[in-house]
Amino acid sequence: MKKSDFLSQLVSLAKRRGFIFPACDIYGGLSSIWDYGPLGANLKKNIKDLWWKSYVESRDDIVGLDAAVIMSPPVFMASGHLEGFNDVLVDCPACQRRFKLEELKKKGEVSLCPECGSEINLEKNMPRSFNLMLKTFLGVVENKQQEAYLRPETAQGIFVNFLNVLNTTHKSLPFGIAQIGKSFRNEVTTKTFIFRMREFEQMEIEYFVRPQHSDKYYHYWVEERFRWYQEKLGIRKENLRLRQHTKEELAHYAKACTDIEYRYPFSTTSEGWKELEGIANRTDYDLRRHSEYSHKDLSCFLPQEDKRIIPYVIEPSGGVDRTVLAVLSDAYAEEEVRGKKRVVLRLHKNVAPYKIAVFPLLKNNPGLVAKAKKIFELLKNKYVCVYDDTASIGRLYRRRDEIGTPFCITVDVESLSDDKVTVRDRDTMKQERIGCSQLIEYFAGKFQV
Ligand code: ATP
Repeated sequence: MKKSDFLSQLVSLAKRRGFIFPACDIYGGLSSIWDYGPLGANLKKNIKDLWWKSYVESRDDIVGLDAAVIMSPPVFMASGHLEGFNDVLVDCPACQRRFKLEELKKKGEVSLCPECGSEINLEKNMPRSFNLMLKTFLGVVENKQQEAYLRPETAQGIFVNFLNVLNTTHKSLPFGIAQIGKSFRNEVTTKTFIFRMREFEQMEIEYFVRPQHSDKYYHYWVEERFRWYQEKLGIRKENLRLRQHTKEELAHYAKACTDIEYRYPFSTTSEGWKELEGIANRTDYDLRRHSEYSHKDLSCFLPQEDKRIIPYVIEPSGGVDRTVLAVLSDAYAEEEVRGKKRVVLRLHKNVAPYKIAVFPLLKNNPGLVAKAKKIFELLKNKYVCVYDDTASIGRLYRRRDEIGTPFCITVDVESLSDDKVTVRDRDTMKQERIGCSQLIEYFAGKFQV
């Protein structure tokens, strides 16, 4: 299948089945803003829960944080965002579309509009800086004093709380602060589904270390995060790669940076390899700058050496939405079964929105309905389950395949006499008869981590 077809199939499935909808859909949508439907909300929550469990709940060197989205301007003067978080843009005089100068240069057509083909005269249509941060005003008066910004990354919430966390948790180096939350960027390049959004979610860790240990922890986090996507989310290794930033690409304060890239279904010259997460050694830049601007001491005491230092920070920074897109792309498959097309999402059981679906073979048979509902009641406290009798069995299986439910249970007339049900595996489509009293044990084996 062509990459562009693949993406449109995925976008269509996401909408049709309730994973992802355009925001404000009934009013025509809002550019680069998307809403998650019932299945998407479950899928996204599963990804975030796995991340939180891996890094906050299962470790004693990382603590969690949930900082505010709205932040005051001095934060972004210190971080450099108010001066440097700019793209240089050029407006097309004919169609009024805006393009990144960088991207026009990459195409080698600085003077032709990629959208309408009109000539862009760089003398007249001067490239100008465009700040990617979204601004708002607090209170009723819209003046300079009331200005505030929606954070463009969750990281700044961590840095401005460094002292509060240190004073309340008494952690010593190395330790990390982890956060999952929304970030906002007034992106210019759009049209890439949930890959580039104006409102998106990030999962970030700021891991504070002694400067002389920063290389060691940088490599540790690159490997750890690369492994996590494969082991916890089941993303195929051949669709993931590491790309180290060249010296020219590195931010001026960074010592090193590696992107974890996923082979997204975009038809681009880079075969779709795009950033899923970045892991950077940001040195002591952030804490030093916030220290200077806030006049607060953001250093740590090292008891053995009897001195204070500003720690270096290693930052694994991943996007939740780009992870959702990678998981969906990786799982989507079309195959032919007995001459008919079957669409199946082979989602890893950890992330599947529903784990088990229970159906009565005949919805007009009260005995079957009652037994199916009883099984649903039995399993629902352990697994996210669903009871469904809204279509014929064939159609229910097809729907479940499309949304990646790993197992379906069907209660048929025989079940009333032998107390057994049919369990169907999404991937192999094999069916097994399992005794109702064995179901808990059976699924404990199947969902074992
Ligand atoms: P890109 O080069 O693709 O714009 P970036 O280098 O600006 O990404 P970072 O600032 O490193 O991205 O942000 C960390 C992570 O946050 C990214 O790896 C990505 O997963 C996610 N992210 C950043 N911008 C967006 C966006 N506009 N929409 C969705 N996710 C995003």
